[in-house]
Amino acid sequence: MLTLITAILTIVSIVLFPQHLFANKFEYKNFTVYSNEKIGNDIKAVLDNAMNLVKKSEINDPNYKYNILLCYNSFYNKVDDKLFGEGPAASSRLNDVIIKVRIEPKNNLAFITFHKACEANLTCLLAHEMTHCLQLHKYGIMKFNPFRHPELWKLEGYPEYVARKTELSNRGYSLTSEIDRYVNLESKATNFWISAVDDEGCEVPNYYYKGLLMIEYLIDIKHMSYDKILDDTVSENTVYQEMIIWKDSIKENKN
Ligand SMILES: [Zn+2]
Repeated sequence: MLTLITAILTIVSIVLFPQHLFANKFEYKNFTVYSNEKIGNDIKAVLDNAMNLVKKSEINDPNYKYNILLCYNSFYNKVDDKLFGEGPAASSRLNDVIIKVRIEPKNNLAFITFHKACEANLTCLLAHEMTHCLQLHKYGIMKFNPFRHPELWKLEGYPEYVARKTELSNRGYSLTSEIDRYVNLESKATNFWISAVDDEGCEVPNYYYKGLLMIEYLIDIKHMSYDKILDDTVSENTVYQEMIIWKDSIKENKN
């Protein structure tokens, strides 16, 4: 019995407080970065860029402190894989941002292995998970936990919106063209995996992409706050249809 309790407590402490498992620690601004490999200075620019994205979010807290756990090839990854199965390249737990895959901060890359190998933008990956930390920080664990949380398009769409906003604006991005691209991809998809917005060969569950577009529509076009979106009871389908009608009306006006 005692052995069992000890084993359970050990696993719980590894999952909730994994920081002590790492050989190296590096403090920078609001971040403490943990890793088994030596942490070079290249990570600073990535952290600054991720912070610049997150800063623009209405749910940002400038005093919030993040732990960034670089877990590639770590004991923590092994435990996490055993408990939760192999899955997403990154996740968040309390104020921990957990990056499970190999990264190359110098080139701003994260090497995704699940469900398809691809190279992702490391800054976006960090900003997405940092936004999840802030959701929990602002709205509390009763509203944001693995068992009870807002609908997936609201849960994942907002971190995607925060993480990708600047990147997409910089490229002469158009929401109407992006909606067309999504509709087209979704009509051809055979399962719920779909090409990511930036089309770097990465695929995401379709509610990441759909959620991003819907959140972008509600915030940028309808000028709703995330607070308001969370409180709103209008169904996903109604918002989606409304967005399609808006997109068609914009295109008609252009023709
Ligand atoms: Zn997410």
